[in-house]
Amino acid sequence: MSNIILQIDQLSKTFPDTPIAAVHNISLQIFQGEVVALTGPSGAGKTTLLRLLAGLLLPDTGTIYLQKELVNTYAEELVAGHPDIHMVFQDFKLFPNHTVQENINYLLRYYDKDFQQAKTQELLQLFHLEVFATKYPRELSGGQQQRVALAKAMAAEPTVLLLDEPFSQIDGRLKQEIKQALRHLVNEYDTTLLFVTHDTSDALSFADRIALIHQGDLIQFASPTQVYQKPTNQFVASYFGWCNFLPLAYIPTRFQTNGHADQMACIRPEQFSLVMQSKADFKGKVVQQHFMGSHYILDVSTTSSQTLQVFAHQAYQIGQAVYLRIEDLHWVSKSDKLLPYERK
Ligand code: ADP
Ligand code: MG
Repeated sequence: MSNIILQIDQLSKTFPDTPIAAVHNISLQIFQGEVVALTGPSGAGKTTLLRLLAGLLLPDTGTIYLQKELVNTYAEELVAGHPDIHMVFQDFKLFPNHTVQENINYLLRYYDKDFQQAKTQELLQLFHLEVFATKYPRELSGGQQQRVALAKAMAAEPTVLLLDEPFSQIDGRLKQEIKQALRHLVNEYDTTLLFVTHDTSDALSFADRIALIHQGDLIQFASPTQVYQKPTNQFVASYFGWCNFLPLAYIPTRFQTNGHADQMACIRPEQFSLVMQSKADFKGKVVQQHFMGSHYILDVSTTSSQTLQVFAHQAYQIGQAVYLRIEDLHWVSKSDKLLPYERK
């Protein structure tokens, strides 16, 4: 197992004149070289947590250790922030009077000239910025500026890099390539990367582990497959994709073991299969069909239960009778018991 690089214990922060904590009693252990996504709805406390971790904001209670060193106290320094923790803000903060290559080069300016040049060139290439090298930030689009900010941050080979919504203005194939570039550099420099995103597909596809935050509380901290396939409660299950929630009474006995009385079954659309009548758990009728490009999503109304969302490889007729079988499911706590904002 790798070394723990960040040890975060019972961190809380409430802003003046606000009724609830922006960050509430959060504890996390993060390993060196790990890529961690902080995700959650708008206002969940993601940016506040990032600022606390950077040593830019002082928590009310709790501690953050970078290896053996307390980070909290850096918020009180004249120039706030821990020197080994680099943060890229949502609005990039590039130097307006420096070109792209000067911006990237900035943190390398005391190094040997050849090294500076080679490194800047490598970063320009990795972030697809070569053609913009001599341009100024104002001459670039938001997405191009965002890439410059990432290249600039990586130039410093930071121990810990904190990125607030780093892909928000980058789309499609380019976003894939930027993620690959970041992953490559993180491995090369053994950087620990924490990034904030409200986009669940960025969190699922790029992170080693995901911390889901809601109203200041950490709800689940686990790998992408775990948060998707083994969500702890209904909130987590719904956050990472559609779930058909069914109570125990509707679930075939082959999925029933003990202790599900206080739980709901979460069945993802792809966990149903369309089968012949003899194998069916539910009989239903297609009431809506959504073409998704690579597949279809059917809304199937059933006689025994609610309308279910079901993944299909081919088109069906509206009104067509279909038979559904549950291939797999996951039991989750009912949200009325575990709603995160019901503070203890
Ligand atoms: P997120 O990044 O998840 O959208 P934030 O961390 O920015 O959320 O904000 C969490 C909560 O704290 C919100 O309710 C927000 O209004 C509040 N908040 C954030 N910064 C401040 C501040 N400087 N002063 C007062 N309230 C703040
Ligand atoms: Mg934010």
